[in-house]
Amino acid sequence: MADYINSPDACVTEMSLDDLKKIKNGAPFESPVNPVELTLDSEIRFHCHKGVSCFNACCRHVDITLTPYDILRLKRRMNMTSSEWVSRYTLPFPMDAHEMPGLKLATKPGSNECVFLRKEGCGVYEDRPAACRYYALGQMGVKRQGSDRVEDIFFLVREEHCKGHEEPRTLSVRDYLEEQGIGEYDEANREWRDIVLKKRSSGPTVGKPSSRSMQLFDMCSYDIDSFRRFFQSPGFSEIFDLGDEEKQSLLEDEDRLFNFACRFLKQILFAEMTIDVNPRGREKRLARRRERAATSKKPGT
Ligand code: SF4
Ligand code: SF4
Repeated sequence: MADYINSPDACVTEMSLDDLKKIKNGAPFESPVNPVELTLDSEIRFHCHKGVSCFNACCRHVDITLTPYDILRLKRRMNMTSSEWVSRYTLPFPMDAHEMPGLKLATKPGSNECVFLRKEGCGVYEDRPAACRYYALGQMGVKRQGSDRVEDIFFLVREEHCKGHEEPRTLSVRDYLEEQGIGEYDEANREWRDIVLKKRSSGPTVGKPSSRSMQLFDMCSYDIDSFRRFFQSPGFSEIFDLGDEEKQSLLEDEDRLFNFACRFLKQILFAEMTIDVNPRGREKRLARRRERAATSKKPGT
């Protein structure tokens, strides 16, 4: 099961069926991607269930890119911190030419088999990642020429080993997504996906992002526990103007805190100002820096 959501080519400005045929790794002659654009109302024939002859085949050859919400769900399920979970179950990879940090789901040693695959099926089924839920649908967020809106398009992925396509069931894309519980994942990842698309769309004209901004992206995306510490630090409060009540409510709800982390990231990376800035914070920090510099220059110190 490869990852056919949020393809790295999703920043194309105009998408047509011909473009879809050129999707990375998707030359029409070799690719399992069926280059027919589907809408939510399109009907597909597909059914995956325990009775299919290929049961678990897809989980033996995985290449899955994780989203932040996948990590939140799975680390909570396993009662681990985000950094523990990430270091145990993921492999880092660069999501673009600027090395935007991405994470792949780990496989069992010496194989391509998903680390969570058990004899009886998926060992984390209720919290399986978005890519597993989408399969055998692929999805892309595209911005059509002249539009600011990111539009979702879908396509079918037909891999030879997958017999789900031969099962006698048809349903709409909308119903399939609902059956797979995608809505919650898409909603939670929406702001993040927007950031990824914007970063990719900015391309080489904007230049390589600073390592500091990539570190912030990494923390906000994949390490909610570190973000929480940062959020609670005196330095953060000095710069951002949040009421005690709002702070407390964000600390009590990790999903909302992640959403806030994305807003913070947008503010830092794209100057999209949605969090009030404390006007005196910057002055205070500058004053402290001046004080430190003056102290270090004093003779004998
Ligand atoms: S998380 Fe579950 S569904 Fe996804 S690849 Fe692993 S075993 Fe399969
Ligand atoms: S039908 Fe397809 S998705 Fe379902 S177990 Fe078989 S290979 Fe995997």
